[in-house]
Formats: sequence, structure tokens, C-alpha cells
Amino acid sequence: MAYLAAHDDRLLFLPLGGSGEIGMNLNLYAYKGQWIMVDCGMMFASDYTPGVDLILPDTNFIETEKAALAGLLITHGHEDHIGALPHLWERFRCPVYATAFTAELIKSKLQEVGLIDAVALHIVKAGEAFPIGPFEASYVPLAHSIAEGHGIALTCDKGTIFHTGDWKLDDEPLIGPVCPSEELTALGEKGVLAMVGDSTNVFNKHASGSEAKVRENLIEMVKGMTGRVVITTFASNVARLETIAKVAKETGRHLALMGRSMHRILAAGQETGYFKDLDTLIDEQDVGDIPRDNILIACTGCQGEPRAAIARIARGDHKHIHLAEGDNVLFSSKIIPGNEMTLGALFNDLASKKINVVTEKDAFIHVSGHPGRAELRHMYDWVKPQCAIPVHGETRHLIRHAEFAKEMGVKHRIVPQNGDVIEIQPSGVTLVDRVSAGRLAVDGRVIVSVEDSSLAERRRASVSGFVTVSAIFDRNGMLAAQPALAILGLPRGNEESFQDILTDIVEDALDRMPRKARLSDTEVQEVSRIAIRRYCRKEIGKNPGVATLITRRHHIEFS
Ligand SMILES: [Zn+2]
Ligand SMILES: [Zn+2]
Repeated sequence: MAYLAAHDDRLLFLPLGGSGEIGMNLNLYAYKGQWIMVDCGMMFASDYTPGVDLILPDTNFIETEKAALAGLLITHGHEDHIGALPHLWERFRCPVYATAFTAELIKSKLQEVGLIDAVALHIVKAGEAFPIGPFEASYVPLAHSIAEGHGIALTCDKGTIFHTGDWKLDDEPLIGPVCPSEELTALGEKGVLAMVGDSTNVFNKHASGSEAKVRENLIEMVKGMTGRVVITTFASNVARLETIAKVAKETGRHLALMGRSMHRILAAGQETGYFKDLDTLIDEQDVGDIPRDNILIACTGCQGEPRAAIARIARGDHKHIHLAEGDNVLFSSKIIPGNEMTLGALFNDLASKKINVVTEKDAFIHVSGHPGRAELRHMYDWVKPQCAIPVHGETRHLIRHAEFAKEMGVKHRIVPQNGDVIEIQPSGVTLVDRVSAGRLAVDGRVIVSVEDSSLAERRRASVSGFVTVSAIFDRNGMLAAQPALAILGLPRGNEESFQDILTDIVEDALDRMPRKARLSDTEVQEVSRIAIRRYCRKEIGKNPGVATLITRRHHIEFS
């Protein structure tokens, strides 16, 4: 049975991702029996899911409601907003809407998974309202750390919701329009029922700063440098890439781009009218022919990703570039919490080769794409929502953002969690239900719940090791041979004697079982598990996972 009745006239908001984490944004709105989705992003995995790179929001709820899903609006092209789309789209199949640059990025993802012809991808223009399900949607351009960041105004006969997407204020964003404060003020004057917005930088009291200042500083800094200069940044930051091109030009250096995503963004940008001024660009294989003082390299890997260009350059295993003493590497990027260790190791690698490393901690060569409280203050002043629903944050960010909205005089606030069904009314925002929500892991080519037993097993094996026992019983329930053991990831000192002793212990334990018990697979497995764990705990202080494979011979073999 459908969750929404056709005549259901509640205006609902339901996040399935991004409320409780910075990443995997997926928000749903419903009215009059129809849903719309805003964004469909992924996040990077943690140690909780060893061997897994990507985490996606669990879309099970909307899959069961897909007949009522009118479309998916994408605010902008960051991975935490589009990254799950190629993995999950087939589960809910609906039309997708995005502006031109974002659509290019989506297209290249869909191409990779063979869905390019299946997805109806509509290119929309900021400021041009269009109907989607029970709403009228209008994209509002906002500055962000990627080209074409947008808020979306969603209007129905109950009122307007302003979904901010990721944003910041920037008087000189270098690409895209300066913040349309008049448009936002006009929106506020018409009346905004609820603002659903970015909480990422709510702990920062100040404004994030301008892209133009970063450009100025980088030009100044590189002017004073000799040797090669490498600048690493997020490829998707088109303004920053244009800045790097500008730095090359102003400092008389040739520019080379390194890393797959740099080239992908370059292609998407050129397709949609960016990067018009790239006459200093050379091929990466020609870098070696250019004098060291005349080269500037823009490359990927600013978070220390081991396969990305800068990590390979630092290790000295990049095909086309080898850095030497006196060269410079500038990290024009944020050190994302959680990546400090990896980045620290990379900085050390470079420093040990006497390469000059500059990061955001040393100079203002990076600016955030999210609003600090000084910017949030402006937004609340302009939009004046009756209700505030903070999203795009961990719980602590959402709570702080809700407090801030209260300080700003917003009458009603609610701190959502993924799976909360929230009714939006002029009289307030109310939690009316909870639906299933969670995380999915892209494990190899299979998508499973992060709570899947396979991942629990892998965690256990990675922490405690694993022992596999093979036991063969004859038809009388007697061991037909000594059990065979395979030991994985356990410290075993003198390997042979540890394995031999453990084998004897299992054999003994199985032999001592009453005959009837030996005929039961579950009882054999239990006895084998207890025997192995007891010995391992006592001898090596580890509590391994144990699997016991049982073969039962049904006739006696003579040899
Ligand atoms: Zn973003
Ligand atoms: Zn985001």
C-alpha cells in the first residue's frame, strides 16, 4: 500500500541521507500523493566497513514509493549530491533535473554504468520555474566551491520551501553570479514557510571568505617561487582551476593538468562554457621538456588519496613528473577531518625530499564553500522563514544550526534525523513518523547494507583473525581423519607448532563429544568454535572468528 494517499494534503519533508552526517545527501518532499527527491549523494567509507570505498543512502523507502516519485532535482555536482545516482537510479527510476554543468558531470557517470540512454535528464536554467509533481521548482544560483551551486525554491499551494543546497556568500566568486540577495529578499517577502539548509560550517562564526582573495594570494605566492610548482585542489572547483590557469599566466608558467578527474572536469567545463582562457595548457607528457621555473602543475589528490596524482608524485612513481629539492607543492584545499594522518604522511614524504609544502594552515590559499554564521545571518535576514530545518551536517552541526535559527528569530525549528517524516505547517514543524533509513555499502560490484553480516565478518576477521576448520566424519559419526585448519590473520609465533597444537585441540574436543552430538552439525560447530577460541584467548589473547566445514561420509571407504 502506498505511503501517501492521493488526497493526503500534508506537506512533508523526509531526509534519507545527510541529516546526521556530512555526505550522502538525499532529501524527499511530498505533497498531494507525490514525492520529489532533492540530491542523491554518496560519502566515503570509514574503518567500519573495511574494503569498502563508497557509502550510499538506503533508498528502500522510496523504492517502495517509486510510482509516486515525480523526479529528482540535483542542486549541484559534488559527489555528496550526485555520487549515488549511478548506483541507485535503477531502483527508483525517475526523471532527473540539473543545470548544464552538473548535467555534464552526471552524464559522464551515467555513461560509465551504461545508463546514459535510460535516464531522462532534463537540463534546467536558474531562474526559470518549472513544474515537478505537486510543486513548482525554481533554481536560485548561489556561490559554492563548484560551478553552478544552487538553492531550490519549491512552491505549492501550502507555501514555499527554500532548500538552500550547499552555499556561501562571495562578493567575487569568480564564476557564476554574485549572491542574488535581491531575489532572496523577494522570496522572503513573498513568504517562506520553511528553509532547509546547509549546516556544515555553523561552528565558524565568521564568513568563509572570497575566491578572489585566494586567487590574489596564490598569484603573489607563486610569483616568489623558483623551481616547479604543483597546486593540488578539488578538481570540481572550476573557479579554483581557472585561478590556477590565471596564476600560470601571471607568473609566466605553462600549465599541465594531472589526474583523471581534472580532465573530466575540464571536459565538462569546456562543454558548458567555462575555461575559455587556457592558452598556457600543455600535455602532461611534455612537462619534462619545460624548464623547472616555467611549469605549473594542477593535480588531484588533495586529500592524500593513494592512487591520485600527488601521492604518486610524492612516492616518485609518476610517469611524467619527478619533483626535486626546491620544488613546491601547494595544497589549495581543505584538510578534511579524518584525513589528517594520511595527509600528514604525504607532507612528510614531500618534506623529506626537501620539497616546500604549503597548506591552508600556512596561508589563505583555500576558502570554504559553506556558510559560516556571518553568512547564515544574512540568509535568515533575507529569507525570513517561518520554520528552519537544518540539514547537511552531523547531529552536533544540526543542533547548533537550529539554535542559531532560534537566535535569528525563526519561530519553529526541528533537528531531523535520516528517516524522520516531518510535517511542515505555518504552525510548526512536527515529527509525524519514522521510516526505514540507513546506509548501503558499495562492496566490489555488490551493494549491501552496512549492517550486512558479510561486513561484520570482515570487521571481525580484520581485528581478530579467522580460523577455518574442515572436519570429516564417517557414517558412524567418528572423525575419519584429523581435522584440517586454515588460519588467517592471527599472530602465531612458531607457526607450525601453533597450528599443530590448535589442530590437536580441535580433534580432542570433537573426539570427546558424545556420539549423538557428533551427528549434529550445529553441535560440532559449537564445540569446535569454543575449543579454538578458548585456546587462542589463553595463548595469544585473540578471539578469532571460526568457521567449521563438515563433511559426512555415508559409506565406508576401503583402500
Ligand atoms: Zn557541495
Ligand atoms: Zn555537500
